Amino acid sequence: MSGLNDRRRTLAVDGEPVVTGLVAIGDAWASTNPSLGRGSTMGLIHACLLRGVLRQAMTRR
Ligand SMILES: Cc1cc2nc3c(=O)[nH]c(=O)nc-3n(C[C@H](O)[C@H](O)[C@H](O)COP(=O)(O)OP(=O)(O)OC[C@H]3O[C@@H](n4cnc5c(N)ncnc54)[C@H](O)[C@@H]3O)c2cc1C
Repeated sequence: MSGLNDRRRTLAVDGEPVVTGLVAIGDAWASTNPSLGRGSTMGLIHACLLRGVLRQAMTRR
């Protein structure tokens, strides 16, 4: 809550992944300025998007 800057973490350096098999969502993906109250919404959007991607991958099998 003390940081007012938006900060995004990446799992890639110079376009190359530093880890595979890991998906960062919600606060693990980024922290946002708390005065705008976006954290929960962002996390829920990420969760729904990830659910959709996983569902698609499972139905392709
Ligand atoms: C004081 C405060 C007020 C806030 N007010 C708002 C607001 O009004 N509106 C808003 O949109 N956002 C608000 N936020 C931000 C919001 O709470 C977060 O952005 C949101 O909760 C992030 O969800 P998350 O699931 O990514 O992480 P979290 O909610 O932090 O969930 C992570 C979970 O993982 C668990 N965990 C951690 N390590 C492990 C482990 N090794 N094994 C298993 N489980 C583990 C933790 O116990 C936790 O339950 C507020 C944050 C704070 C601190």
